Amino acid sequence: MKFDEKKLYELAKDLFPISRSLTGSGVRLTLKKIKKIIPKIQIKSIASGTKVFDWKIPYEWSISEAYIEDQKKRRIVDFKKNNLHVVGYSKPINKTLTLSELKKHIHTLPKQPNAIPYVTSYYKKIWGFCMSHNQYKNLKPGNYKVVIRSSLKKGKLNYGELLIPGNSKKEIFLTTYFCHPSMANDNVSGIVLLTGITKWLLNVKRNYSYRILFIPETIGSIQYIHKNLKKLKHNVIAGYVITCVGDDGKFSFIPSREGNTLADKFAISSLQSLKKGYKHYSFLQRGSDERQFCSVGVDLPICSITKSKYSEYKEYHTSLDNLDYISQKGLRSSFDLYQKLIMNFEKSKFYMATKMCEPHLSKYNLYPTTSTKHSGQTVRKMMNVLAYSDGKRDINEISKITNISLSETKKFIKILKDNKLIVTL
Ligand code: ZN
Repeated sequence: MKFDEKKLYELAKDLFPISRSLTGSGVRLTLKKIKKIIPKIQIKSIASGTKVFDWKIPYEWSISEAYIEDQKKRRIVDFKKNNLHVVGYSKPINKTLTLSELKKHIHTLPKQPNAIPYVTSYYKKIWGFCMSHNQYKNLKPGNYKVVIRSSLKKGKLNYGELLIPGNSKKEIFLTTYFCHPSMANDNVSGIVLLTGITKWLLNVKRNYSYRILFIPETIGSIQYIHKNLKKLKHNVIAGYVITCVGDDGKFSFIPSREGNTLADKFAISSLQSLKKGYKHYSFLQRGSDERQFCSVGVDLPICSITKSKYSEYKEYHTSLDNLDYISQKGLRSSFDLYQKLIMNFEKSKFYMATKMCEPHLSKYNLYPTTSTKHSGQTVRKMMNVLAYSDGKRDINEISKITNISLSETKKFIKILKDNKLIVTL
């Protein structure tokens, strides 16, 4: 499929109103819509209560209705009009309160008086409403009826996964989260872009395999790592968390913890080749699932490229992050960047030494039988190429580090490959 930014913006419009949370019908409906476009995607689940590392899969939260009614029975806040009005995972309530009692349960943003904030309380049982500070300021004294019809029951956490095979078993890992209600850049844009990239990948010739993942943020990636770490560590050569990719701002780069993995190197070179400048953040400013993928002991080569980064734009986590904040142009430029990045991987080869420690070169007739003043130099060069054949560097980088010309590096790579001392990933 030729990428059509119009279609993807339409998909964003379709997904935007859905009331998503970590679990429940909103994420299932979102997955259903993705599956319509990518029928091969597998929809998977894990039961509430399952222990994953230091966490437990939460219960499923459902909400059918929520509102605040004034004394004249006017609904001054209604979940149906905007799903950000209710604190995510709110417990049920049906009560009449005075204004001062009600105010204890209302969240606003005094510095952004027009915006409704996005608030959740996944692990502490509370209830609450969110509204613009302008509306809050104008609330008149009196009694208010508050109703939240919600439930928290044993259920499951859903996610979507697809492995697109290539010639190599080594994988590029592309992930996004899909647990936010009606906000466009964070995070409908990520869902839409990953859907578009997947559709494109399915129709191109691939050397590498691609693992695609749609999960709820944090707990979703934690459970996924819990289940798949061995496989991920073995196969993933680079990965990216795709989020906040729909606006017209500059690109932002959030490195992995180590900052020098293949994923980092290729992200930086792809961003630099645009020659448009980008913001280079530190891992200390991480905020999405790279927190889990790069945590101690997990240490996967995963980083993130966004447009305006989460937490850094003023519309972030408010009702102002709406469909006007993202654009077809913004989605298009992110698609082009990720496409370029993937094609850069496809054009590159990575080599891995097959023997532990130095190979016994004489066995392969690679060691000079007569030792002269210069006879060792060629062997040393070859051993330097071998020393950096660690699966984490392409031929250009090996040539640079070893100070051996590209053509000579290629010659050594061929000799090492012919003798099965290295393999191509
Ligand atoms: Zn967010």
